[in-house]
Amino acid sequence: MVRKNLAIISMLCLLFAGCTPKLELEKQTFFSLGTVCSVSLPTGTKQVVFDEVKASIEKVNSKFSRTSEQSELYKLNQEHRLDTDEEFFHLIEQSLRMADLTNGAFNPAIGGLTGLWNIGTDQARVPTKNEIAKVSTDYRQVRLDPSTGNVSFPQDIQLDLGGIAKGYGADCARAVLEKNKIERGLINLGGNVYAIGCKKNGSAWRIGLRDPNGEPGESFIIIEVRDKSLVTSGAYERFFVQDGVTYHHILDSNTGYPAQSDLLSVSIIGSESTICDALSTAVFVLGSTKGLALINRTEGYDCVLMKKDGSLLFSDQFPYQYSLEK
Ligand code: ADP
Ligand code: MG
Repeated sequence: MVRKNLAIISMLCLLFAGCTPKLELEKQTFFSLGTVCSVSLPTGTKQVVFDEVKASIEKVNSKFSRTSEQSELYKLNQEHRLDTDEEFFHLIEQSLRMADLTNGAFNPAIGGLTGLWNIGTDQARVPTKNEIAKVSTDYRQVRLDPSTGNVSFPQDIQLDLGGIAKGYGADCARAVLEKNKIERGLINLGGNVYAIGCKKNGSAWRIGLRDPNGEPGESFIIIEVRDKSLVTSGAYERFFVQDGVTYHHILDSNTGYPAQSDLLSVSIIGSESTICDALSTAVFVLGSTKGLALINRTEGYDCVLMKKDGSLLFSDQFPYQYSLEK
């Protein structure tokens, strides 16, 4: 009897093994840039390619982390001046350009404030008004010398690239795949997605945007994209509660406090993940009216915004197919 059952079980296993279609992508997950990262590449892709993608993301972390004592950014924040390499210089330059474009809503000189609040760590706390007043976030004071690669700024400024580094990491990962002639795949760095190419059958990738009011893993919308990045910023993932008040991690450098936004979540879609990332943070800070206007005048970038009242806003002539899940 036992033997017969075993025989049936092994037959079933074989049957299932025979029927299971091979998954289109193989996914590998790891921790970097302060978040869970996943890289999904066509099944059969060599491990060395996965490793090269991971290394490219880890390199971004080791250069641009604000808190890791080994990073170049840490050194720059300690010394307030540093001769940097081309890659480092370029990302600082791009961050400052995004600050200009968003009128400081995205502000890479916000490090003094993020250091005071420490949101996302177990040292998170509400700083005093006095502490906030002592910190400068004036990104216009950051000096760049293209002839030497030198970056410098006054003593009361600290840089923080937390609002752009994951996007940059996704662009680096994509470049590695392009170099290795991998035409399709999904990169997800803690909600910072790059959907590379399209599915094997030629259809678009279907990317779900997390429902801020739902369980983790629940989406409110599925968007169809080919070769685009989708980046989401929201107040619902990193926050702490003190005396009944919730403080989240996207700060408004004009007030020194978490942005008082009418938005729950901001998703930006476009070709450069670095730009999507900076824009998502900026739109969250700006709120729905100014944020939508910013995206409508930024060519090649679109958005889906969820307001606190649950309503959705799309950029003008939103070009992607989508289906609402709720
Ligand atoms: P997440 O990191 O959760 O994906 P964001 O891309 O919006 O979300 O980035 C938030 C991070 O960026 C914060 O943790 C902080 O390090 C930094 N940051 C906070 N406020 C701003 C801001 N106004 N401009 C630029 N960076 C910011
Ligand atoms: Mg961002």
